[in-house]
Amino acid sequence: MTATPTERWSDVLMGNYGVPPVTFVRGSGTELFDDAGNRYLDFLCGLAVTGLGHAHPRVAAALADQASTLLHVSNLFITEPQLEVAERLDRLIRSGTGSEANPAGGSGRILFQNSGAEANEAALKLARKFHGRGRHGVVAAFRSFHGRTMATLAATGQPEKHEPFQPIPEGFRHAAWNDLAAVEAALAPEVGAILLEPLQGEGGVNPADTAFLQGVRRLCDERGMLLIIDEVQTGLGRTGEWFGFQHAGIVPDVVTMAKGLGNGVPIGAVWATADVAAAFGPGDHGSTFAGQPLAAAGAREVLRIMEEMDAPRKARERGAELTVLLEAIPGVSSVRGLGLLLGVELDPAALVGRTAGEVARACLAAGLVVNGVTPTALRLAPPMTISSDELVEGVGILAGVLADGSAFDDGTTESGGHS
Ligand SMILES: *Cc1c(COP(=O)(O)O)cnc(C)c1O
Repeated sequence: MTATPTERWSDVLMGNYGVPPVTFVRGSGTELFDDAGNRYLDFLCGLAVTGLGHAHPRVAAALADQASTLLHVSNLFITEPQLEVAERLDRLIRSGTGSEANPAGGSGRILFQNSGAEANEAALKLARKFHGRGRHGVVAAFRSFHGRTMATLAATGQPEKHEPFQPIPEGFRHAAWNDLAAVEAALAPEVGAILLEPLQGEGGVNPADTAFLQGVRRLCDERGMLLIIDEVQTGLGRTGEWFGFQHAGIVPDVVTMAKGLGNGVPIGAVWATADVAAAFGPGDHGSTFAGQPLAAAGAREVLRIMEEMDAPRKARERGAELTVLLEAIPGVSSVRGLGLLLGVELDPAALVGRTAGEVARACLAAGLVVNGVTPTALRLAPPMTISSDELVEGVGILAGVLADGSAFDDGTTESGGHS
C-alpha cells in the first residue's frame, strides 16, 4: 500500500507544526483544492499572506517572466525589480490618510529581507547600531508576536514561548497592551526603542487604541527613542489603510513588512527614516537572498496591482460587509479588528465545549479555511479580492458549523471529508 501524505509527512518532517490535516494542491482566487479534489474557501490566506488570492495571473506571469530572465546575482550588484518595490513602499509608508500626504517629510530607506522575523531582527540591529552601546533596550507589548529567531522571540511578549529556549538575548522588557502608563513604567535609561504591532495578530486580533499609539509616539519623541512598528501582518492594505499605523495618524521611525508583500513569495522589508537608516554602513548587515530578483519581481507586481485596485479601500468595504454578516449569525458574540483582519469571538453556547481551534477544524471539514487565534476566537483574513458572494458563502459555512455542535471534528479525520 502506498503511504499517505500524512504518513510520509510524519516520517520525514519535524513535529513543530503538529500534523497538518489537509494536503492542498491548487488554488485560484479565494478557492483552494485538496488532493481529493475537495473545494475550500480560503478565509485565512496562509496567515494573511495571499491578499490578492491564489494563483493571481499577473503575479504568476511576473514570476515566470523573471524566472526565465534573471534569478539571482546577490546584493553585490543592483537588480532592477527591487528598485521599484523600494520606491513604492517608501511612498506608501509616507502617504498619510486623506490630504496630509507625506507626513514623514523626506524619503526613507528600504532594506530587503526574506521574512517577517528577519525584517524585525534587522530592525532591532538597526536600532542598536543607531543608539550605540548602552541604549540597546527594547520595550514591546505582552501578547505581541514578532517572530521566532532568538532576538525576535525575546521581543515577543509571550514568556511561555521563551522558556524552552533560555537563555534568550537580554534587553527586552514587556508592558501591558494598550496601556501607556505601563509602557512608561517599563522605560529605563538603556531603552532605545519601542516595538509594537498596530494590531496584535497572533495575540488575538487586538487593535491598538489610537491614543495609545499617539502616546507612545510622544514618549519616543520626548526621550529620543525609536518607534518601530511591526507591520508584518497588518501592512499592505489589509487593515483598510496601507499600513496599520496610519489609522492613528502617527509616523514611525522604522517599519517592518513581510507577509502580504509577495502574495506568497517569501520577501520581507524594513523601512527607516533616512536619519535612522544611515546607522547601517557597508558590512553592518546583509543577506544572500534578500530582495533577490524573483521575490522582488513578485512584490513589484503585487504592489502595482494593489495600487491599481486600491487594496485598502477593498479591505475596508469587504471588511465592513463581512462584519455585518458575522454579527448576524447565532454563536458569534462579537467581531473585532480592522478591514479584512478580523477576530470573531464565539459564544460559549456555540462552542459547546469546543475550542475555537476545534471549530476551525470543523470549518475546514466543511470547506472553509480559518484559524483559532485564541481558545474562544477565530481569525479571519480573506483575500482583498474576495467577492461579496464568497463572503456570504463562507459565513454560511461558519454559521452551519456553529449551529451544529456535531460537526465537531475530533481530529481523527485526516482530510477534509466534505464533498
Ligand atoms: C508572522 C509575523 C511575524 C513573523 O514573520 P515570519 O515571516 O513568520 O518570520 C512577525 N511579526 C508579526 C506581527 C507577524 O504576524
